[in-house]
Amino acid sequence: MRFAIATLGCKVNQYDSAMIQARLEAAGLRRCDFDQPADVYVINTCTVTNRADTESLKLARRARRLNPSARVIMTGCLAQATPEKLAAAPEVDQIVGLARMEDLVRAATWTDTPRVMVADLRKTKAALDIRAVVPEGQTRAFLKLQEGCDQFCSFCIVPFSRGASRSVPPRQVLEALDTLHERGFKEVILSGVHLGGYGKDLSPPITLARLLEMIAERCRIARVRLSSIDPEELSDEIIDLVADAENFCPHFHLPLQSGDDEILQRMRRRYRREDFRRRVDRILDRIPNAAIGTDLIVGFPGETARHFARYFTFIERLPLAYFHVFPYSVRAGTTAAKFGNRVSADEITRRAARLRELGESRRREFLRRFIGTRLRVLIEETREPQTQQLRGYSRNYIKVLVAGPDLLKNNEIDVEATATDSMALAGRIVQSSAATACASRS
Ligand code: SF4
Repeated sequence: MRFAIATLGCKVNQYDSAMIQARLEAAGLRRCDFDQPADVYVINTCTVTNRADTESLKLARRARRLNPSARVIMTGCLAQATPEKLAAAPEVDQIVGLARMEDLVRAATWTDTPRVMVADLRKTKAALDIRAVVPEGQTRAFLKLQEGCDQFCSFCIVPFSRGASRSVPPRQVLEALDTLHERGFKEVILSGVHLGGYGKDLSPPITLARLLEMIAERCRIARVRLSSIDPEELSDEIIDLVADAENFCPHFHLPLQSGDDEILQRMRRRYRREDFRRRVDRILDRIPNAAIGTDLIVGFPGETARHFARYFTFIERLPLAYFHVFPYSVRAGTTAAKFGNRVSADEITRRAARLRELGESRRREFLRRFIGTRLRVLIEETREPQTQQLRGYSRNYIKVLVAGPDLLKNNEIDVEATATDSMALAGRIVQSSAATACASRS
């Protein structure tokens, strides 16, 4: 039997899709592209905005057209949050909520199962299945340590769709890292839906800082990177650990969401912009070459021109390496969906364009700083499609392109940066044990 998966939304969904793929392949199914006729279509949905909901249903209709007798399964955040909405759609056969991998496998193997299999994750606290995932063409493995969230930011559906925060116990995390090291991985990204909430649900509870300390002491993987962590949860202890431990990458992604305190309050974020600035200063004080990125929402309900001007000026003065800009879009079921004073779509587009333009120039400035310097670059499995150069990422998350042999893939090499376009640095190899081995063979 052939199956196809379509994934909408964030990195966490991509991670879940990779888990689904592994489980279905283990059950004897073969994966094919989503635009081919398959026996089973799995749509890993997103519900971050109402638009994402529509997109998920569009994919279900496309699957049905591709093979009218296929089984169309909806899973992911939309399936979890509003199963009744999907159950009303004739093109959908089965709805499987999050954290129900066994049910998903049963549905995909055409076992007789109920049409809707969804549990209330805020009540059940389903256990986490820890397994590393490697996105296609990359050499980095993602390890999800935490799922769900208890913060209830006013724009976010995640606490409802993914349920209460739950964490993988430290022993299992360390074992998973050992296994990845034995499998030859050189970089692991520690991820979670709300990573800063790690450990609070464990018995006894443990902080993320304590887990990272154990990882710094025991993990043999050359590079460990943290995924997104909320600003108020990035303690001095964590910054010091990243600064002092050789295997932690100097890269922080701190989602700020708005540069105006009134809006941050309406968003129910738990810090003010000066707290964010202090985090940035502290990081750069300890690690001057660290990359600091953020996520920004623009056009949140009630964001006036005055708020946006303050927001923009605040961002303009921050030494960020990059930022992602998200135009606000209503998500039914969240507190913010009930807020008045909506910003018009045209105005949101204009504000987003201004911030993105600023983001591009920030990125270019950050890249330019490293021309003429040496960077440690982990080379990925696939080459850059246009130029066929090797590509990889520096420890501080800069994409780097170099000419070199395939032998260097999955090796960390020293590169001297020589030039930049707006997205990456170009460089030449300075030295690497793999490059030396290659030269002595040729
Ligand atoms: S911290 Fe806020 S934005 Fe992040 S997942 Fe939780 S509720 Fe959503």
